[in-house]
Amino acid sequence: MVRRERWRQDFSGWFSDILQEADIMDTRYPVKGLYVWRPYGMKLRNLVFSLLRRLHEDSGHEEVLFPLLIPETLFQKEAEHIRGFGGQVYWVTHGGHQKLDVRLALRPTSETSMYPMFALWIRTHADLPIKVYQVVNVFRYETKMTKPLIRLREVTTFKEAHTAHATAEEAEAQVREAIEIYRRFYEELGVPYVISKRPPWDTFAGAVYSIAFDTVTPDGKALQIGTIHNLGQNFAKVYGLKYEGVDGKHHHVYQTCYGISERAVAATIMAHGDDGGLCLPPHVAPIQVVVIPIPFKEKETPVERVAAEVKEELTAAGIRAHLDDRDLRPGNKFYHWERRGVPLRLEIGPKDVEKEQVTAVRRDTGEKITVARSSLQTQVEEILQQIAEHLRGRAKKMLEESVRVAADLKSAKELLKKQGGIVRVPWCGRESCGKQLAEKVEAEMLGEEIDNRPAQDARCPICDHPATGNALLAKTY
Ligand code: ZN
Repeated sequence: MVRRERWRQDFSGWFSDILQEADIMDTRYPVKGLYVWRPYGMKLRNLVFSLLRRLHEDSGHEEVLFPLLIPETLFQKEAEHIRGFGGQVYWVTHGGHQKLDVRLALRPTSETSMYPMFALWIRTHADLPIKVYQVVNVFRYETKMTKPLIRLREVTTFKEAHTAHATAEEAEAQVREAIEIYRRFYEELGVPYVISKRPPWDTFAGAVYSIAFDTVTPDGKALQIGTIHNLGQNFAKVYGLKYEGVDGKHHHVYQTCYGISERAVAATIMAHGDDGGLCLPPHVAPIQVVVIPIPFKEKETPVERVAAEVKEELTAAGIRAHLDDRDLRPGNKFYHWERRGVPLRLEIGPKDVEKEQVTAVRRDTGEKITVARSSLQTQVEEILQQIAEHLRGRAKKMLEESVRVAADLKSAKELLKKQGGIVRVPWCGRESCGKQLAEKVEAEMLGEEIDNRPAQDARCPICDHPATGNALLAKTY
């Protein structure tokens, strides 16, 4: 019995309530756009980002850590970049009582702190490629309404990867690798996505082109959850990133960068939740299995002892298990862990002890399953696997249903207004048509879809030229 009425109809309220009630974040910190990670939320965050770290390490990225402060002299060098970020930068102007000669920016992203150092590291082609990443906080002075995990002034968790290559082809290949890493990351979280090439007018400041991952929120808006940029030689030329090639000449490098923030945590929460609260994919659930003894007053049974043994057995098998032996009524415990999205609950009552079994209850479906003690570990692992697959499938289906094809622009506008989600419209690829498309349907252009091509005879509804791709349009967060 899964209810998703509030989750869908009052998503904003659902989201802010659950962050508080499930101990993810405290939103009462007295600075706008800054929030506090609470212990349970912090565990979830760390599990999500350790997945992402692993995917980077496995593909040859190395972790680095650059300073938070960037001198204005470096920051101002890349003109495009400044135009993109200038209005959102926090500046440190004083050290103690002393006014600083050079103002220091709190990094809004790290290109301008990293690349001058790359210039010192790169000498010859043997120093390439460079593939590094860091997980840090970044600051942006948001003027729009702030929202925890989604629109922040301190993005507390930003995984940014930066690469440098000898050739344009290698940078192109790196963009493809980044797309694959992000696909795998979101597959593991069960978060569905669409990928698009951002339109020229919405490209990252200083990039040749940008690719973005978007998901759809329960209230029908697109949420950008990852971006990948091909920087070409733009930054290399400004910061003097050159290498000596086998030809003995000096060449500028080609670069890429790509980032994912704590929006990945937000996307995981929103993709799988329901009216009961969080429903976490087992991969990243801080507690995968909660064991709850259910004593029966008149009967002397060792439920507590057996529950502790079950917990130990699961922990030994590498499963994140927790024994809730608090002096509370079982119903209160069920509610507590349901809210927090623990994927599987094991109940152990006198009858279970007698029959050498446990009663497993799935968080995602509410289904009750009797599990024999003798096959506890394998069955629990199987059920967790099934939960992960069910969550992934359910979320994917919802996203597929919310990407719609409209017969014409008028109905596209109606669809977005009434049902939200994303509409897919054939597009000739020209900027002027793209802008008109967005205007006519009264939504944002996400970009040209990567995974789907328009029908052979499809035409751009603005100019009637043959379509070269699909435009994805949506209201956005
Ligand atoms: Zn056109």
